[in-house]
Amino acid sequence: MQAFIGDFVSAGNVDFSQELFMKIQFSGCDYKCPYCNTPEFLETKLEQQLDLREIYKEMQNHIGRIEGVFLTGGEPCFQKQALKNVLSKAKEFRLKTILDTNGSKPEVIEQILKEELLNTIIMDFKAPMNELFDKVTKSSTFFKPATEIITETKQTLEILKAYDEKTNIIFRTTIVPGLLFRKEDILKMAEEIEGINAIWELQPFRNGLLAKKEMQNINSPTPTFIENLKESIKKNIPSLNVRIIS
Ligand code: SF4
Repeated sequence: MQAFIGDFVSAGNVDFSQELFMKIQFSGCDYKCPYCNTPEFLETKLEQQLDLREIYKEMQNHIGRIEGVFLTGGEPCFQKQALKNVLSKAKEFRLKTILDTNGSKPEVIEQILKEELLNTIIMDFKAPMNELFDKVTKSSTFFKPATEIITETKQTLEILKAYDEKTNIIFRTTIVPGLLFRKEDILKMAEEIEGINAIWELQPFRNGLLAKKEMQNINSPTPTFIENLKESIKKNIPSLNVRIIS
């Protein structure tokens, strides 16, 4: 089967483990977050087409060297069948599977969880489910209003709640000055994931390879700023397991 793959590394370092993982970056994404650091993978391009057998061969060659496969993007759930096939093959090789998703495709996420194809899901938890969500994700279109996207993201949260005993769940939120940084917005998000057995990671916006030029003048939030947000969350909802990553 052919899939749109922006890049893949057979055995590399990842930010969540000391072990080596195969990292596969699917291209295509339904969001256009202004701070996206993979703008080159937001559209699918013909030259990114890859026969998945190449990936399977690399997986097989690296058994014993890699701990698992890490699927990221772009948005991997955009290519449902290719995603399922890669996860199934990784399971066949007894590799750990980790998916990084924006959570916009609840039906895909539910199916792969149901089929027990995932060990860990990292959901980019972008913003509270109100008017700010579209400002942060730039996801609404003429055909799909922001309300529909929010409804789907809420469905994903419900699904994650249903599977939180069987799967490791990590929410990851980027704190972006001028966009997503207010305490009240972060506390609203905290309420939205309260009750889900998960780790919530807060990370600072980093000014690197960016999709939007206007973001290049924005500085990263300070460690103290993020620590204060974390403390506010802990004070309001002590049950949430929050950590800061850089
Ligand atoms: S969800 Fe946002 S940050 Fe992630 S790949 Fe898509 S546009 Fe980039």
